[in-house]
Amino acid sequence: MSTESTTPPAGYDPQREHMLDFDVDQQLQKVIDTEDKNFILTSLDEVFNWARLSSLWPVTFGLACCAIEMMACSATRYDIDRFGAGAFRASPRQADLMIVSGTVTAKMARRLKLIYDQMPEPKWVVAMGSCAIGGGPYFKYGYHVVKGVDLLVPVDVYIPGCPPRPEVLLDGLMRLQDKIRGRKGKFRPPKWVANYAKKIPYRK
Ligand code: SF4
Repeated sequence: MSTESTTPPAGYDPQREHMLDFDVDQQLQKVIDTEDKNFILTSLDEVFNWARLSSLWPVTFGLACCAIEMMACSATRYDIDRFGAGAFRASPRQADLMIVSGTVTAKMARRLKLIYDQMPEPKWVVAMGSCAIGGGPYFKYGYHVVKGVDLLVPVDVYIPGCPPRPEVLLDGLMRLQDKIRGRKGKFRPPKWVANYAKKIPYRK
């Protein structure tokens, strides 16, 4: 015979049980009908991607002169922290962005791949500068230089220049944020890019 008591415990509120038994459709209709615009409807993917693009953690990794521009980008004048990407991590296991800033030599290739493999998913790669994109000034005679980091790891954004200025790295970062957000093919260059391009002497 069971000795269990059927008396409700002290402080038991029968209303509480009723509160848990809510009707989703009815509740949603109530939210839609309300005058207050104090709610957001979105998908989990959107929320996760928004969090990811706003908190990119680059791995501390620089290969040559382009790395100086990357460092300038994280300093006060350009302040990459405004985009949530200023936390350069010393361990690839805590990073989700690899900015390949500089010349990738054949000797470095295996190390670069190892660092990339140690980064957790999801992860992104930015090829910064002509060297990382295709060998740069070493393309023809640099027998020791890898002719593009995309031969080793998948690249998400290419930033041309020798070296690219910090503003361009910031622009590349925004293009990566667009990609994470899922906006493909909707890129319109910011006004300052168009104005800057007009000042380049050989541009018609
Ligand atoms: S692209 Fe130019 S600035 Fe960048 S690492 Fe190569 S040589 Fe140096």
